[in-house]
Amino acid sequence: MAHVLVGDVGGTKIGLGHLSKAPASKAWVPGGGKGAEPLPSSLNPLELIPTDRLRVPDPVEAMAQILGEYAEKHTLEPQAAVLGVPVSPDRDLDRVLSSPNIPQLEGLWLASALRQRLGYPVYLERDIALLLLGEYRAGSAKGANSVLGVFFGTGVGAAMLLDGKPYRGYSVGLELGHIPIRSEGRVCVCGNTDCLEAYASGHTLVELSSQSGIPLSRLFARRRESGFLSRALKRFGHDQAYAVATAINLFDPEVCVIGGGIPAMSEYPQRLFELTVLEHLRRPYPRETVRMAWAALGPRAALYGALEVLSQRQDG
Ligand SMILES: [Zn+2]
Repeated sequence: MAHVLVGDVGGTKIGLGHLSKAPASKAWVPGGGKGAEPLPSSLNPLELIPTDRLRVPDPVEAMAQILGEYAEKHTLEPQAAVLGVPVSPDRDLDRVLSSPNIPQLEGLWLASALRQRLGYPVYLERDIALLLLGEYRAGSAKGANSVLGVFFGTGVGAAMLLDGKPYRGYSVGLELGHIPIRSEGRVCVCGNTDCLEAYASGHTLVELSSQSGIPLSRLFARRRESGFLSRALKRFGHDQAYAVATAINLFDPEVCVIGGGIPAMSEYPQRLFELTVLEHLRRPYPRETVRMAWAALGPRAALYGALEVLSQRQDG
């Protein structure tokens, strides 16, 4: 049995999983290699470990160790690894140009250095692009020619696939989290002011939770109980929807996938969000042509994304 290790590196946790290929088979399958696609939705096949393990002077050695430990624990024979990383990689998907979440990675030729350390190829992809590739391969954007993905979590991430290939831009691709959206002067993690991410990300919800005294996980469920919270979350939702409407009007995708931890929170008003986006789409097109979809695969998207990365960059 041959294996490909898959890592989804987030700001706080790294999700680890793998693909398998039986000796007589040509196709990689997620997980242990017994089941056909798709994996049951109740199953999170990724093991979580803290991202802090990479915030060390030699993050390459740390990542190699993490992958090695995972392979040993599951008695895998890795032939390659696919890593979704929260960084801006160069056009060769090797060197890390910027990495605000894990500054230790900045400037490293990460894919080559890991390959050298591990002895097998390591394919890097932007974290959001990897998840969107998964939704394209087996989830809510399956088979669509043009797909926009917007993921609201700790930050705001976006990616665009054209014929299944991530749009790379000239330097970093699609930084929807950093479009200016208000003029109140809030400082964003990137150093600019008034970015979408300064108003409509997990950072904002954490602040609202501490201001209101309501636990983060209950914020949306209790949004009608206080005027302050209700107003703040209404603006929050508008900011999210306006940004997505802006992106759809710009890129005119066939499908727009919305994902991330925030829309998955208890009682997040999904229908209201969809209606607000639709209300602000240009008529009649793209309003009548775009299909809005919620990310369907959750953390499993990384595994299906890895399948897609392999078939695009390897022989499949
Ligand atoms: Zn910003």
